[in-house]
Amino acid sequence: MANFSKKYYFNDKYYNWFYYLCTTKMKKCTSLDGHISTFCFVKRIIWKSNFCINLNKMLDKSEYLHPDKECLSRQEIEALQLERLKATVKHCYTNEVYKKKFAEAGITPDDIKTLDDVRKLPFTTKQDLRDNYPFGLACVPLSKCTRLHSSSGTTGNPTVILHTQKDIDEWANAVARCLHMVGLRPDDVFQNSSGYGMFTGGLGFQLGAERLGALTVPAAAGNSLRQIKFIKDFGTTAIHAVPSYVTRLHEVMVEQGVDPRRDTKLKVLVIGAEPHSEEQRKRIEKMMGVKAYNSFGMSEMCGPGVAFECKEQNGLHFWEDYYIVEIVDPETLEPVPDGEIGELVLTTLNREAMPLLRYRTRDLTRVLGRTCPCGRNHVRLDRMKGRSDDMMVLRGVNIFPIQIEKILMQFKELASNYLITLTTDADNDNMTVEVELEELFTDDYQRLQKLQKDVTRALKDEILLTPHVKLVPKGTLPVSEGKAVRVVDKRTVYQ
Ligand code: AMP
Ligand code: ZN
Repeated sequence: MANFSKKYYFNDKYYNWFYYLCTTKMKKCTSLDGHISTFCFVKRIIWKSNFCINLNKMLDKSEYLHPDKECLSRQEIEALQLERLKATVKHCYTNEVYKKKFAEAGITPDDIKTLDDVRKLPFTTKQDLRDNYPFGLACVPLSKCTRLHSSSGTTGNPTVILHTQKDIDEWANAVARCLHMVGLRPDDVFQNSSGYGMFTGGLGFQLGAERLGALTVPAAAGNSLRQIKFIKDFGTTAIHAVPSYVTRLHEVMVEQGVDPRRDTKLKVLVIGAEPHSEEQRKRIEKMMGVKAYNSFGMSEMCGPGVAFECKEQNGLHFWEDYYIVEIVDPETLEPVPDGEIGELVLTTLNREAMPLLRYRTRDLTRVLGRTCPCGRNHVRLDRMKGRSDDMMVLRGVNIFPIQIEKILMQFKELASNYLITLTTDADNDNMTVEVELEELFTDDYQRLQKLQKDVTRALKDEILLTPHVKLVPKGTLPVSEGKAVRVVDKRTVYQ
């Protein structure tokens, strides 16, 4: 049902026809006798009610902020993508850097005839952005640009992303669509507890929530006591923050005797901007008593609003009217089959100032499906496993921080904050995992020792190496106001 295209969802003729079919069939069924009749009747009632629930959902346009885009069939999505891809490629061709890349690849914009032809296009990387810092990849004159964002580069040049006013408007629309999808409406109070400034999580959500019409509180990151006061005083119904900060906020709520269920009007959390496990999300939902939806974005694509979970929480819907999504093998750069993990590659489809073709995000994920009971057919991707550059290689074994988090979060005696330190001792690489204990957990030495052994064993089963596990009191490990720092690499590098 959910996969009907928009035409069928909202077409009264089809609705009436289905309704007529249901009701006449039911009437006929009740005229039969005995058990068969009752069985058929009950079965049909169930069928009819399921049908009506689904149909109602589809007919209820208020579920979608942009039904004309959100409810497109796969065919319609692909037709729109091809049209937009052709226009984007032509637009990029006006830029000298892209023109050179096209020449090297031996193609011109006329070679893009089908959606699969996207694979003829050269990839773009962060290095391209750095090499052409600051404005080399702009596809419009600077006088048309109204905003600049930059992602923090720890080494070399930072990367710069330019926006025209139209880009900013589209970005606001995308974020508003995401917030609407998880149930937020103009009568909500949206507190944005994320960093502002160059970090796009601040202004991106600010504009998106305003576009939706919600009362938007630019609380910014940190100062948990003030955050809690705002939540209570303003009747905040939704918060956006990085997941590691939500757990910190909850700790301070507990210290202050504030119960989010009892003392606040919270109904939705939006968490994202950093990798987090399903276990971490479940914990956050349990502690805050509300649903927490995963939000994915990156500055190069605009910021938040690239992908979001719907109420089904079964993966991130990437908005395919804005992006072409590819998952490729990071070594061969060939596409991997659906369900297999690879590197996410994105092509922007409606950007003016700085469109990006086949941008290698370094994020690792996989396709879960292209349909969803929510009625949207925009591709669903798994939560990010991590970035290829986050991968730790320890004694030849590849390990992602998220694998460690997943195990730690399974122990209810452990709190959410942890730190992985890599060192070289006696020519060997070692890993130490420090993790905070829940406040009320015992100080009985034997129980702590057993817990430490259990955690070590569970980690060994997951990562195939035995880390040193240190259980530390709550509040001991550093808390970052922005994205959490989970790994400190102190290893000696031998030449
Ligand atoms: P920035 O451009 O600084 O906002 O960083 C973007 C990067 O943050 C992405 O490429 C991902 O690695 C990471 N990121 C953003 N959102 C999520 C998310 N929901 N889950 C996992 N990683 C994320
Ligand atoms: Zn969905």
